[in-house]
Amino acid sequence: MSFENLHLIEPILQALKSEGYTIPTPIQEQSIPIVLNGQDLLGCAQTGTGKTAAFAIPILQLLHATKSNQRGPKPIRALILTPTRELAIQIDESFAAYGKHTGLSHLVVFGGVSQHAQTNALRFGIDILIATPGRLLDLVDQRFINLSNIQMFVLDEADRMLDMGFIHDVKKVIAKIPAKRQTLFFSATMPAEIASLAGSILTNPARVEVTPVSSTAEKIHQGVYFVEKNDKRLLLLHLLKDESIKTALVFTRTKHGADKVVKDLNRANIEAEAIHGNKSQSARQRALNLFKNGQIRVLVATDIAARGIDVDDLGHVINYELPNIPETYVHRIGRTGRAGASGIAYSFCDGEEREFLRDINKLITKAIPVIEEHPYPMSMGNYNQQKTITQQVPSRRPMINNFRRERKWTGNNQRVNNN
Ligand code: AMP
Repeated sequence: MSFENLHLIEPILQALKSEGYTIPTPIQEQSIPIVLNGQDLLGCAQTGTGKTAAFAIPILQLLHATKSNQRGPKPIRALILTPTRELAIQIDESFAAYGKHTGLSHLVVFGGVSQHAQTNALRFGIDILIATPGRLLDLVDQRFINLSNIQMFVLDEADRMLDMGFIHDVKKVIAKIPAKRQTLFFSATMPAEIASLAGSILTNPARVEVTPVSSTAEKIHQGVYFVEKNDKRLLLLHLLKDESIKTALVFTRTKHGADKVVKDLNRANIEAEAIHGNKSQSARQRALNLFKNGQIRVLVATDIAARGIDVDDLGHVINYELPNIPETYVHRIGRTGRAGASGIAYSFCDGEEREFLRDINKLITKAIPVIEEHPYPMSMGNYNQQKTITQQVPSRRPMINNFRRERKWTGNNQRVNNN
């Protein structure tokens, strides 16, 4: 199967060629014909599967076919709603790349920055708007944005919207767009509330499902180090002595933790930056660009800040702290090994995290191999306990209806997902 077989127009085929895409990913192969056919879509897929192009390409093609040459500001005809600023920027970049020969205009709006540049750009009229929910509602309320001409609506990462507390805003946005429209709904998991939202906004959707969350992990080489909490810093420095680690995305659970790891690395003369919710949008973008351009070797991130980060050829993911929600582990390691490439994911597990590791092993239906050879092993008693608990053979659990467990991190009485 090639992109030509999907009956795409020449301006889009040309752009895909210059992006170096030759073969559609499974979600693209399945979704593009459905969307081009005008049908609603329910896509069960996570970032890393090529889902952005799966919706961006057919949207560009459909809007291109009905492009108006009228003078004056154009109405916004497609809206993509996505939970994070990083993801919004990446989607906008994708529309820019795939749509560069279509003459269609697009704009991204998100909070945390002045709205001035965004409202200025809106004055000229745009075809495709990519937005995070809060800023979108603000601009609609101020009448800078009119959603009454939306023909195509994409709700991206719906489960993450729920996790981040945006679901109410999402419903408000939906109430403002025309009922007669084509809707594309994407979610990596389908908790009950998301399934019910999908049911209420989609009309006879075609369902497309790719790489269940638990199986994405298969192509990534994984290893876990049992290490005392206080030795994690030294273990990280030890690993980074290996020059074959060209780029590493390091995950911490908290913003404070991310800053501390950066400080430790900088003290050891390793170039690193942190991205998390307390950093301004420009600081986050700057850090991401430095990392993408290879000017810094290590990027330290919290889960929400890292959602959607798309770095070509990211070699290593290091879980400095394990997440309490096992699906988050799969999202994290999915930053490496993208679009079919292989990657390496190491995890540090201290005594308080062994339950998290057990849940992760259960979700991915295998025990992550333990790396025993390292200079900071746990005391023998702790180690044996750790090993027995985490090496039990897990049983398979289906992804759909796999309700997210919002357990609290009890180690230091801190909620984990507060980034
Ligand atoms: P996404 O899931 O949309 O975040 O895409 C994941 C990564 O795959 C991005 O770096 C895309 O540029 C890349 N990608 C998407 N589709 C293709 C394709 N058909 N061939 C090669 N790379 C792709």
